[in-house]
Amino acid sequence: MSSRGVVYADPDARPAVEEVTLDPPGPREVQVRVEACGVCHSDLHVVETRGWGMRFPILLGHEGAGVVEEIGEGVTSVAPGDRVVIAWRAPCGDACPACRRGDPRRCSNNLRARRRVHRASDGVLLAPVLRCGCFADRAIVHEACAVKVPEELPVEQACLLACGFSTGAGAALWASPVRPGSAVAVIGCGGVGLAVVQGARLAGAERIVAVDVLAQKLAWALELGATDAVDASDGNSVAQVRELTGGAGVESAFSAIGAPAGLVDAVRMCAYAGTATLVGIPPPGRTLDLDPDADLFQPKVTIAVTHGGDTIPQEDFPFLAREALAGRLDLARFVTAEIGLDEVPQALDDLHAAKGIRTVVRL
Ligand SMILES: [Zn+2]
Ligand SMILES: [Zn+2]
Repeated sequence: MSSRGVVYADPDARPAVEEVTLDPPGPREVQVRVEACGVCHSDLHVVETRGWGMRFPILLGHEGAGVVEEIGEGVTSVAPGDRVVIAWRAPCGDACPACRRGDPRRCSNNLRARRRVHRASDGVLLAPVLRCGCFADRAIVHEACAVKVPEELPVEQACLLACGFSTGAGAALWASPVRPGSAVAVIGCGGVGLAVVQGARLAGAERIVAVDVLAQKLAWALELGATDAVDASDGNSVAQVRELTGGAGVESAFSAIGAPAGLVDAVRMCAYAGTATLVGIPPPGRTLDLDPDADLFQPKVTIAVTHGGDTIPQEDFPFLAREALAGRLDLARFVTAEIGLDEVPQALDDLHAAKGIRTVVRL
């Protein structure tokens, strides 16, 4: 089967659209005709870290949704024609200690399909980002990664459940559950941070303080459920958040930026016994400037980390889809641009500027 995909060929290459070929799906694998794929920061992270530890050549894209086209031997959970979101998390079920004790949110042993996509030019196997490779007309994934969602949800919204939206909303709903009536701070109001805002609102937070350096992002946050906006450009956001909460601080603070200072600020925004959660991917080799006594022990602050919102995709994606269809989550507002596959390399560059919330590739 021939197809097209965005290939990052070697560390110095610019990602480019190429012809690719697919082997048929193997046992427990499904072939999905990708219809939409969000442009997520992690794909840029792959390029900026010269491969993120993956082998080359790499097939980019990991925020996809589409329709099941073909199924391999033994597939029972989906059938051709099903609308699916492609998850990059797929808890193994029984092969790791977390799953064996019934705690799949902590699974680190994801199910995966074999690599089945080749460069058409030389036949070399491609390494798909996060086992997805969805900047392509077709993807082959493990059936556990093909998550059925209601067809009524437009596909350009459904794809956001695959990564960015679930990461943010999941951080507030499942990784570090926000308690009803509590106060929350969200540092960084890009696509993921705005999804934290939405998740915190759904969880029943009373106060949601959005923190960012850009007025546009703060305006989006207020539209999507934040109750207060703090302009962080003067470097004084911790004091401002504390002042807004009567000096107490917030029960939950989320850093949705990569810079280590975001997590440090999150810790210092916390109320007694609060939790600071790292959502954004930090650059390697940095350190945190924290005083373990004054910043952590005395205020009894917990630092948590989430990977993709710690979701169980087969349960959580349909839940988020239903909440969106019921009007309690606003996925539509997140889609601020739609582009074609050929525009992906430029769209990755554009992630450096805050041009919109999420750009979605339509295929
Ligand atoms: Zn597991
Ligand atoms: Zn992502």
